[in-house]
Amino acid sequence: MYLSKSKYCKGFQCEKMLWLEKNMPEKSEDINNDNVFDNGTEVGILAQDLFGPHKVVEFNEDLSQMIEDTNNYLKSDKIVLCEASLSYNNNFCSVDILIKNNDEYEIYEVKSSTHVSDIYLEDVSYQYYVLTKLNLNVTKCSIVYINNKYIRNGALDIHKLFNIKDVTDIAKSKLLSVENKIKSIENYMNNTIEKDKDISENCFSPYPCPFYKYCSRKLKSPNVFDIASMPLKSKLKYYSQGKYTYESLINENINEKYKQQIEYNLYKKDDYINKKNIKKFLDTLSYPLYFLDFETYQQSIPKFDGVNPYMQIPFQYSLHYIKKENDIINHKEFLAKSSNEDPRRALAERLVLDIPRDVCVLAYNMSFEKNVIEKLAMIYPDLRDHLLNIKDNIKDLIIPFKNRDYYTMKMDGSYSIKYVLPALFPNDPTLDYHNLDMVHKGDEASSFFSSIDSLNEEDKKRVRESLLKYCELDTYAMVKIWQKLNEVIK
Ligand code: SF4
Repeated sequence: MYLSKSKYCKGFQCEKMLWLEKNMPEKSEDINNDNVFDNGTEVGILAQDLFGPHKVVEFNEDLSQMIEDTNNYLKSDKIVLCEASLSYNNNFCSVDILIKNNDEYEIYEVKSSTHVSDIYLEDVSYQYYVLTKLNLNVTKCSIVYINNKYIRNGALDIHKLFNIKDVTDIAKSKLLSVENKIKSIENYMNNTIEKDKDISENCFSPYPCPFYKYCSRKLKSPNVFDIASMPLKSKLKYYSQGKYTYESLINENINEKYKQQIEYNLYKKDDYINKKNIKKFLDTLSYPLYFLDFETYQQSIPKFDGVNPYMQIPFQYSLHYIKKENDIINHKEFLAKSSNEDPRRALAERLVLDIPRDVCVLAYNMSFEKNVIEKLAMIYPDLRDHLLNIKDNIKDLIIPFKNRDYYTMKMDGSYSIKYVLPALFPNDPTLDYHNLDMVHKGDEASSFFSSIDSLNEEDKKRVRESLLKYCELDTYAMVKIWQKLNEVIK
C-alpha cells in the first residue's frame, strides 16, 4: 500500500487505526484538531526562512508531479528545498526542509509543538529511511520546534523563535525498526476482514484514537476508563486484570474519590450534601460579590510585543455582580475588537474600572483567573496594585465540589463546571451550553476569536454575539451554582 509519513505515524501508534480509516471510516469520531493544524501550517511556512533563500515544491494532488519537481530541484548541487517529495517502494515522504550540499543531505522536520515527543522521532526516522533507501547520503536529521521561552520584542526573530534538536543518531538507530514496521503495517493492511485488537495505551497516546468508541463498544459502560482523573496506567492495569466493570472494581483498594463515583453509579445513591462544610465556605464570601471568567487565546507565533508562544492572552471577560443580599444581579463584559491588536491593555483598564478594590471575587478554578491577572499586573505597572488587589481577593467556587462536600451521581466523579452545572440544573435550558449558537466551549471561543478578523461583517457580528453569550453563561452559571449552595444549606 501507499504510505505517507503521517500514515506511518498512525500505523506506528496502531495498525488497526489505519485499517479502520481505510475500510470503515464511518466509525471514526470527529476529534477536533483544526486549530492545531492551522497553527502547524503557519509555523511550517515561517520555518522555511530559517536557512536563507529556498525553493518550495508546490502542492499537487498528483504526487508523481511533486516527486518529479523535487528531482528537478535536486539537480542543483546546493539547495534548500521545502516540501521535498520523495518516494521509495510506495513509501512517500514530504520533507519539510531538505538541505542539499553536494552529495550530503540534511532533513529538518518542523513541529508547532514546544517539545520533542517520541512520535516525532518516528516521523523523522521514517523520512531518514525513505531517503537512505533512495541512496541519498543523509548526514543530519533534526526536529525544528517552538521555543516557548522566546518573548517577542519588535520584529519577529525566527532564529530565537525556533529550537533545533539534532536527532541524527536516533534516526540512524531506527533504520531497521522502521523497515520492520513498514512490513508489519503492509501485512496488517492486507487483511480483508477486521481483526480484533485489544484496548491498550495506544488508544490514548500519543494521540486519542478517533476509533476508541467503536473499538470499546463491547465493554460494559460505564467502566474503568470512565473514572474521572484516575491515571491511565492504573486504568490499564485494572483492565488487563479483567477488572474493568464498576462491579469488579468496587471491592478493590482504590482511592475514596474513585470509589465514590463507582458507588453512586452502581447504587444510584442520593445526593451527598455536607451542609456544615458548604456553609463554612459560603461564610468566607462577602458582598459586594463578583463572579469573573476570562476567555483567552494562544498564538504559536507571537504577534505582539511581550508575548511568548502559547501564552494565554486574555481577550474577553464576563462579570456578574451582586451589591448586597437579595439585590438584583448586574452584568458587565469586555470583548476585544480584533485579534490583530493586543487586547491586554484595554482589557486590564476595563477590569480595574469594573471591579473595585477590596471586593470579593469568585472564579471557578481560580488559578487560571489569578494567573491571567498576575501577568497583566507584571506588564502594566500603573495598574499593578489594583490588579493584584483583585487577584488577592479571588475565591474559588470549585471548592465545595472539589472537596466533595456536594456530590451527585451525575457529576461522574468530575468537579469541572461542565459536569457540575448540568448535575445541579438538569432541566434548565438557559444553563445548557448545547443551546448556544456557535460557541459552546473554551477552545471554540479561542478558535473563533483567533480568526475573527478574516470574517465578513455579518459573520463577525454573529461570532461576537456568540462569544458574548458564551462567556456570559460561564459567569451566570457561577451565580446559579452559588445560589444553589445557599439554598441547600437552609
Ligand atoms: S481504539 Fe485502540 S485498538 Fe482501536 S484502532 Fe484505535 S488505537 Fe487501535
